Amino acid sequence: MCGIIGYVGKQKAVPILIEGLKRLEYRGYDSAGIAVLENKGLIYEKCAGKIKNLEDLIKDRDFESTAGIAHTRWATHGEPTDLNAHPHLDCKGNIAVVHNGIIENYRSLREVLIREEHHLTSDTDTEILAHLIEEYYEGNLLEAVQAALSQVEGTYGIAVVCKDNPHQIVAARHGSPLVIGSGNGENFVASDVAASE
Ligand code: GLU
Repeated sequence: MCGIIGYVGKQKAVPILIEGLKRLEYRGYDSAGIAVLENKGLIYEKCAGKIKNLEDLIKDRDFESTAGIAHTRWATHGEPTDLNAHPHLDCKGNIAVVHNGIIENYRSLREVLIREEHHLTSDTDTEILAHLIEEYYEGNLLEAVQAALSQVEGTYGIAVVCKDNPHQIVAARHGSPLVIGSGNGENFVASDVAASE
């Protein structure tokens, strides 16, 4: 179980998210990733290894986004590879999810999703969340997340973004820590207060 940081506000999100991840580094991790909501849609990067590797992937790009989520992973299901790093996305690349914890019933949910012709690309338990949310999404992200989580057994702290709602992060927790920090015109979500102070 490792780190989540999310930011929505007026400032550029990427430096805040990277700084938040660094403050969570002490918890240990094997991979890192980020998803932000730019004008042109949902952009994400993720990789195995250190936060520095993620910084190298994004360093020459100018992100305008003022909302996004980021994650450090401690693998429980699937090797610590680039593909298994979070965020995980739905089939259309519109919805991104970061998750701490373990989805106990992911195997049966995965089978159902594959029968429904969802295209799953990782070995993680987490990826089913992105596709389940896609399955329920009809324009209201909060309702889709609630419906998806009603199918899930296990522990989770999650943060979810969708390209249709560039100023919204939906977060939920069950058995995994997640705190919300609300500021003046900006809000944070994190798996530990250290990330959002
Ligand atoms: N179970 C998830 C995975 O293996 C999340 C692990 C975590 O909490 O970092 O990808």
